Amino acid sequence: MDTDYDDVKDVNYDGPGWRATYGGFWKETVDTVLSRTATAVGSYGSLQIFYYRCANCRGWFPRKRDVPSASKYITIDHISSVRNHYKSVGQYMDFDARNQWYNKTGNLRAMCNRCNSSKGG
Ligand SMILES: [Zn+2]
Repeated sequence: MDTDYDDVKDVNYDGPGWRATYGGFWKETVDTVLSRTATAVGSYGSLQIFYYRCANCRGWFPRKRDVPSASKYITIDHISSVRNHYKSVGQYMDFDARNQWYNKTGNLRAMCNRCNSSKGG
């Protein structure tokens, strides 16, 4: 299993506290979720980059790693929230089981950071 979390910080909305509890998104999780999200080709300076559609506001946003100065960028949202999962059964699971749940792509969708943070995880 790919546990290189550093590569995906730009799409990991959840903060350090959740990271310690759940781990974080695997690269393959991010790749899967973004691959089924509508994209548009754009540019940033001389680079050609992708913009991804937010499931909530329907706007188009780049990955933070592609546009480091972006104040609005694409993240990955848990449809059924991490907080509720933890309160119900997550607290009784070990780290690996929680991290497996965290990375279930059926519960994930692309969402811009603003929509994601106002939704509350
Ligand atoms: Zn949005």
